[in-house]
Amino acid sequence: MSTASASSVLLPTYARAPIALERGEGAWAITVDGQRFLDFGAGIAVNSLGHAHPHLVEALTAQAQRIWHTSNLYSMPEGEKLARRLCEATFAERVFFTNSGAEANECAIKMARKYHAAKGHPERYRIVTFEGAFHGRTLATIAAGGQQKYIDGFGPKVDGFDQVPFDDEAALKAAIGPETAALMIEPIQGEGGLRLVPMRFLKRLRELCDEHGLMLVFDEIQTGVGRTGKFFAYELNGVAPDIMSIAKGIGGGFPMGACLATEEAASGMTLGTHGTTFGGNPLAMAVGNAVLDVILAPGFLDHVQKTALRLRQSLAQLKDQHPQVIEEIRGEGLMLGLKLKTPNTDFVAQARAAGLLVVAAGDNVVRLLPPLIIGESEVAEAVARLDKAAGAVEAELARPAAE
Ligand SMILES: *Cc1c(COP(=O)(O)O)cnc(C)c1O
Repeated sequence: MSTASASSVLLPTYARAPIALERGEGAWAITVDGQRFLDFGAGIAVNSLGHAHPHLVEALTAQAQRIWHTSNLYSMPEGEKLARRLCEATFAERVFFTNSGAEANECAIKMARKYHAAKGHPERYRIVTFEGAFHGRTLATIAAGGQQKYIDGFGPKVDGFDQVPFDDEAALKAAIGPETAALMIEPIQGEGGLRLVPMRFLKRLRELCDEHGLMLVFDEIQTGVGRTGKFFAYELNGVAPDIMSIAKGIGGGFPMGACLATEEAASGMTLGTHGTTFGGNPLAMAVGNAVLDVILAPGFLDHVQKTALRLRQSLAQLKDQHPQVIEEIRGEGLMLGLKLKTPNTDFVAQARAAGLLVVAAGDNVVRLLPPLIIGESEVAEAVARLDKAAGAVEAELARPAAE
């Protein structure tokens, strides 16, 4: 064993910020040495109800006293209940629980392919995805996301994904062929820089799927579970998918995901066609149900919409005050982005120095993904800290270059 105690033995796949968060209270996260940060990253849109929400803590600890794991060999009452609630509140009629977003997408991809195979068309296995997409880090989902930096060096790219430019109908039509099984898209790109898919384009996707008998797959892993002010982002456009992957916010910080589908879309997923050891475990199901208790309570999503409007208005003012730094405000609900003129990673570091946690995204965007429970005081505090960060970036710009 190495004795290099100062250096980490974790794989160096992340550039980790030099703070260690030890506990949290609502929208605040506190380090081992007592520094308090206003957490407008919420993991990455994961802690949907903030840190240590009493209802979630109660649900998890109560379940921990009973049973942790049973396997999917036995019936799962808490999972049945959560699945039913998800179906009642969405387009879906079938649910498969997973442990992560990428696994939810794997299930979605397998389901779309199996749908056609079960109908006698195993040649229809290709899935069209969109530039700037992010669907996870498994071998299939890096191929779906299509980002070269995630694909390179990991052997032959998984076959069956055709990527087209964002919002380009002609390219999309050209990519649809006799082997196409599905179109897969995030209604709002998260990692890609908070790009909204225009409503008319989403409507076109639905029409094209209906015309060609394709499955429409929405990746709502980041946009789902109240993040946009609706339970799911597809409600903003009135375009329902056939298959939808969710994760992140549904667990409120506990790892879990799910693949939701219509009965028709799920019709190929018969006995023995898919499985998981940990997916749908009692701890995750207890927490998922507790998250829904809060998010689906009357008035909660109205509160998210009101808070989001206030935040967005304040950010528009901030943009006017810092035209050298902020180019544009993007996003929807409490999934907002600052498209910057200066490097986003510098801004994230300055925000952290001002006591605010935010997350960088593609296209030089800084993401604000606060817990959905924030109110006026957290909005005001966050904007004051963003103002400080923007000021610090401007001061850097004003400094004469290199001594
Ligand atoms: C985070 C994310 C994923 C991957 O989820 P993991 O839990 O990290 O596997 C996939 N799609 C989208 C849109 C995401 O935001």
